Amino acid sequence: MGLRTERQRHDEAARGGRWAVELRGVHRRYGRGASAVHALRGIELALPAGTFTAVMGPSGSGKSTFLQCAAGLDRPTEGTVALGGTPLTGLDENRLTELRRTRLGFVFQAFNLLPSLTVEQNVLLPMRLAGRRPQRHHAADVLARVGLDGLGRRRPGELSGGQQQRVAVARALVTRPDVVFADEPTGALDTTTAREILALLRDAVGRTGSTVVMVTHDPVAAAHADRVLFLADGSLVDHLDGAPAAAIAARMTTLTPA
Ligand code: ADP
Repeated sequence: MGLRTERQRHDEAARGGRWAVELRGVHRRYGRGASAVHALRGIELALPAGTFTAVMGPSGSGKSTFLQCAAGLDRPTEGTVALGGTPLTGLDENRLTELRRTRLGFVFQAFNLLPSLTVEQNVLLPMRLAGRRPQRHHAADVLARVGLDGLGRRRPGELSGGQQQRVAVARALVTRPDVVFADEPTGALDTTTAREILALLRDAVGRTGSTVVMVTHDPVAAAHADRVLFLADGSLVDHLDGAPAAAIAARMTTLTPA
């Protein structure tokens, strides 16, 4: 596998019109009139397939709103979002839910596993919801990939935090999604475990060509991404490619109000 630069990937995707995630003129306002909050102010963004992008910004800069809009969990007030070339704008709630279940994966800070289901049942849940026949070997394959061989019959409560997040990553990957959205996936983990989870996300990008979009406040986590986007006051104000954690942290300090 050749090493392509961020620029080459970008140019290739632009030529083929193959954007995994595309936001054009996206605004999101909460409320109306004088008390309206403008959480996103005209986001322009196109992410090529097979890339790992981190989104950073101070608290209140619009990171959650960005993720919700990009993942079709919330609708922009203005502008368009397309995933894998499919515009979300015209889709009714049923189609949107179907698209999320079949083409997207989600990883959250709090793992969000169902405690009464086994690990294997948790991992296969997205396949069931997507109406595909879940097969044991699917769970076994993806659990082996995240280093949880043989733990399929346990309940989440019997696992460590790091293992639970591995289950969540397995669940996110089982449908072979085009895009995985991760919201502070390492926020509840120690440094070593966090690094392992980030390596799994990186592996999903390299191995299956998934696209990962991760919101984080941690420069060390963001340094695992190909590109870091910086949000401030609802606008994308900068990006860094292949930057080390120290450079990302330094850029963040210039965005955070003293
Ligand atoms: P971040 O994730 O970077 O902390 P958010 O996307 O949560 O930022 O919030 C961006 C802005 O939108 C903030 O000013 C926040 O108070 C506001 N906001 C977020 N959600 C709502 C909501 N449901 N109703 C009103 N304002 C909201």
